[in-house]
This record gives sequence, C-alpha cells and structure tokens, in this order.
Amino acid sequence: MAKVHAIRTGFVQVRKSQRESKGKGIARITNMLFDPEWTEWLPIYAWAIEHEEGVILVDTGETSRVHQQGYFPNWHPFYRRATHFSVHPDEEIGTQLRALGIGARDIRQVVLTHLHTDHAGGLTDLTNTRFWIAPEEYKRASGFGGRLQGYLPNRWPRWWEPSFIRFDSGALGPFEKSMSLTKAGDVLIVPTPGHTPYHVSVVVHGSPMLFFAGDTSYNQQLLIAGKVDGVSPDENISRATLARIGALAKQQPLVYLPSHDPESEQRLLNRSVLSVE
Ligand SMILES: [Zn+2]
Repeated sequence: MAKVHAIRTGFVQVRKSQRESKGKGIARITNMLFDPEWTEWLPIYAWAIEHEEGVILVDTGETSRVHQQGYFPNWHPFYRRATHFSVHPDEEIGTQLRALGIGARDIRQVVLTHLHTDHAGGLTDLTNTRFWIAPEEYKRASGFGGRLQGYLPNRWPRWWEPSFIRFDSGALGPFEKSMSLTKAGDVLIVPTPGHTPYHVSVVVHGSPMLFFAGDTSYNQQLLIAGKVDGVSPDENISRATLARIGALAKQQPLVYLPSHDPESEQRLLNRSVLSVE
C-alpha cells in the first residue's frame, strides 16, 4: 500500500461558528463574523501519497507569507474578523517535502480540494507539475469575484496553469462519479460539494480505504453528527455529502482525514476507521 505522509503546514484559528454553523440563512454568516469565541489552533494538513506511479499531493497547505503586512486584503471582513494564522517557514510544504526526501520532480500530480488560501498557499513552493482542480471551483476563485469570496487569486504563482478535473471514471460506492489519478485505478477524485460548491476529495483504495476530505467537515465528530460548517453556501448540499461519506464508510472500512482535524494524523497512523450508526 502507498506510503502516506501527513504534512502539517502550520495552524489556523477560526470562529467556533465557522467550524459548526449557528442559525439559518444570512444569520449563519453574521454569527460567524461576530462570534466572540475562537476555536483552538487547528492544524493545516496537506498530504503526500508515495504511489509507485509518482508522488501525489493532496492540497499544498499554507505559506508563512501570511505574516507579511498586506498579504491578506484588509478590506475583507473574513480576514479582518474571522481568521488567525500561524505558519513558520520550516512548516511550509516545500521545506517539509525536502526533509522527506521528495524532490520537485518526484511529484507527478497535485489535487486541490478547493482553492481557499490554506489549501493553495503552498503553490509557490512547487514547480510546474500537473495540478487538478474542478473547473467551476477555479472559475469561482478567479478574478475580483474570487477575491470577494475570500480567495486570493492574486497570490497564485504566475506560471500556475491547472488541469481541470473530469469525472469520467464511474461510480465509487454512493459517489456517482469519480476520476482516476493512476493507471492502477487505486487513487481517485470524488466530488464532495458543500464547503465550496465544487469541492473535491481524494480516495486511496486499500484496507482500510483512505479518504482525504479537505474541508468537508472540520473534524470527524462533526461528520458523524451531520453538522455543517459556517461557510458552506448550501447547508443541504453539505449535509448530503457528509451522509454520502458515512454511507461509503458502511460499505467498506475507511479512514476519514479532513484537513483541520487535530486527530487526522493519529487516525492515519493507526488506520482508525470511521464508524457511523
Ligand atoms: Zn476551506
């Protein structure tokens, strides 16, 4: 089975009502921005899958440049009110990949679950390899419209040219479509809309299966409870995705690995599987 590395690229703190939403409709947003309570510092994980067809990265984590004056738009309410970062240069993905002995040329493919800054910030550490993103997510994150949504398209490297995901590999359990990343067909992308409308996750077949979930939920307990976060534009779509992951876990043992769950790394090491009622 492929060897997998959890790469923690620093920490983020969000309002508690971002991790688990409070209220309905527009109140979900205002509750998030004006919630006096912060979460504890949460890890920002990216993942490196050492596959025999080449290394596959899931997300790129955050960059220490977040600490530079003016890196974030100070006019944006989300950056003004709702997020804190802590990223040391040694925690960036480039430094950590080198420490693992993974060179830029070993990396064959990078999958971005979505383009929020803490998943795309490490792009500048990578060279031109194949980057997969859902075309609609790329469109949503681009330009001034993207900046209004809280994305930072102005921070993407100039050379960056992503490839667009096409779900042409058929169903995977309750997921109606997928896209295979390997000839062996053992690493796949599946659509997991919710946190953003075109968010994706990555699955590595095996026993147990590994499910790299991006931000489908901030932790495993929230998935089990079917609790939606504060940023998902449509709660029902998010909830349906959480239910689908749960349904897959009933069909076969699966390790659930969201990006910001403090317990993800330990679950990966112990291959602790998700158990749903
Ligand atoms: Zn996100």
